[in-house]
Amino acid sequence: MAKPIIGITTGQRFIPATALYREENVISSPIEYFRAVIRSGGSPLFLPPTGDPAAVEAAMEGFDGLLLSGGGDMAPARYGEGPHNAAKRPQPARDDTELVATRIALERGMPVLAICRGIQVLNVALGGTLIQDIPSQIPDALVHRTSPTEPHAYHELSVSPDSLLARVLGISEGTVNSSHHQSANRLGEGLRVCARGPDGVIEALETDDGRPVLAVQWHPERTYDDSPLSRRLFDWLVAEAGKWRGSQAE
Ligand code: MN
Repeated sequence: MAKPIIGITTGQRFIPATALYREENVISSPIEYFRAVIRSGGSPLFLPPTGDPAAVEAAMEGFDGLLLSGGGDMAPARYGEGPHNAAKRPQPARDDTELVATRIALERGMPVLAICRGIQVLNVALGGTLIQDIPSQIPDALVHRTSPTEPHAYHELSVSPDSLLARVLGISEGTVNSSHHQSANRLGEGLRVCARGPDGVIEALETDDGRPVLAVQWHPERTYDDSPLSRRLFDWLVAEAGKWRGSQAE
C-alpha cells in the first residue's frame, strides 16, 4: 500500500552572499521533520509558504496528514494584539499559509501533528491567543528556551489522564526538551490542555471532540532516535493519516 503523505509546513530563510554564491531567499525546514516522518512510515512533502490560499488548498488535496512545524513567531495582529518587545521575525506569508492549511485540515477531519510554533498556529487558527514572551510575561516560569548558555533545556511534563496524548505517549509524567519563548494563552474554540510544565505553561493541546489532532510545545523530531515517546507521536500521525486516506476512499 502507498505510504501516507504528510504535508510539512515550511518557512523562509535569507542566506547572505558568500564569495561563491549570490544571496538567496530559500524555503527552509529542519530536515529532522522529514526524517521522522519517513522513519515512521510516511512520505513527507513540502507545503511552501506562498501565502496564496488557492495554492494551499490545491496542495492540501494531495496530503493525508498535516505537520505544522516549528519556526519563528506569528505576527501578534493575528490574535488581535500589538507586538511585545520580544516578538521576532514575522513571516506574513507563512502565517497565511499555515492558518489556511490548519482550517482546511480541521474542516476535513485530517490528522494534524503540531510542533512548537505549530501549537501556537493551531490555537490562533481557532481564535486563541499567545503568551508573546514567557520570560517577561510569566516571572516565575522555568527556562523554556535554549540559548548559547543553555543549549539543551529540558523540563518535567504532566500529561492529563484520559487524554488522547496520554494514550499516544502511554505516560502521565515525563521529561521533554524545550526550545520556545511563546506558548498558548487563551484557548481557541474546541481545544483543551492535555499537558503542562511544572510552572503551568501549556505544553500540549488536543481537541475536545476526539479529532485526530495533537499539538505539542516541545520538539519530538529532535529526539526521535533517543526517545520512544518522540517516535510515538510520528507513528501516531502516520497511522492516523493512513486511516484518514482509507476513510476518504470509501
Ligand atoms: Mn517548554
